[in-house]
Amino acid sequence: MNEREAFGEFEATTLFCPRCRRATPTRRKLLLVLPTGRKYDYICADCGTPVGGKTDNDSGDFYRTIAPRRPP
Ligand SMILES: [Zn+2]
Repeated sequence: MNEREAFGEFEATTLFCPRCRRATPTRRKLLLVLPTGRKYDYICADCGTPVGGKTDNDSGDFYRTIAPRRPP
């Protein structure tokens, strides 16, 4: 985990929010870590409505998380 990620689940992305009816800043929320990548949700910073999602193809975290145990 790098410093920027540790600082907070915030990304300066602006998306259109159907509830606010305007483009609003979003917060990025990590939903799932899958073998194929990480799944994120983008949440409106004003009202909390999910405005989008994203899956990246970085499987590094998954395999670090379930690193196999070494026999003694
Ligand atoms: Zn909103």
